[in-house]
Amino acid sequence: MSSKGHILVVEDEEEILELVTYNLGKEGYRVDSVTTGEDALRQVREIHPDLILLDLMLPGVDGLEVCKVIKNDEETADTAIIMLTARSEEADIVTGLELGADDYITKPFSRRVLLARVKAVLRRGKGEEPQDENEVLRVHDIVINPGRHEVLVGGETISLTLTEFRVLQFLANRPGWVFTRSQIVEAVRGDGYPVTDRSVDVQIVGLRKKLGSAGRYVETVRGVGYRFVEST
Ligand code: CA
Repeated sequence: MSSKGHILVVEDEEEILELVTYNLGKEGYRVDSVTTGEDALRQVREIHPDLILLDLMLPGVDGLEVCKVIKNDEETADTAIIMLTARSEEADIVTGLELGADDYITKPFSRRVLLARVKAVLRRGKGEEPQDENEVLRVHDIVINPGRHEVLVGGETISLTLTEFRVLQFLANRPGWVFTRSQIVEAVRGDGYPVTDRSVDVQIVGLRKKLGSAGRYVETVRGVGYRFVEST
């Protein structure tokens, strides 16, 4: 077993499949590949990969269905999934993320993007859990203090509404992850704090404005949702 990680590539386009398996193999990952959804489901149960690179447009059982089955099966639910998608598949990307996929890469992609995403997702899978929501969180030049319900940017206190605070805390606690509006609503909604998909956009606009220069860390992922930029 390779220490770098075991990856299953699911892709019916020969050229992409070859390119991906070649580059991952060269990087030291253990790589297996299949070309159909049916084979993907069989292989996942057999080899228990750390990560699946999953093309969405597959003949027969498509990628979203594969994702759903894997994430709903206790035995395989921990397997990380990066979807390989076409730029036009934004609705499917949203669905996939909500089904539990960890990230996505749009085609065509470079070797550099492929390796960076794979590395990031595998790293997150290996114990980089989001920290306790009651602990002080420091990311970039932002300090989020849940106990005092206080946010400092570059040492200056900024005043947020409770919902803005929760949205920031949720995103900043998981830098690099893309979240759909529904996922953000799900995470920040509490009794008495009605938040809707559309109002997430309003919250983000307000949040960015108040964060000032640090507002750039809250990134819009067009057609999909939002992501907090990772520290480098
Ligand atoms: Ca395909």
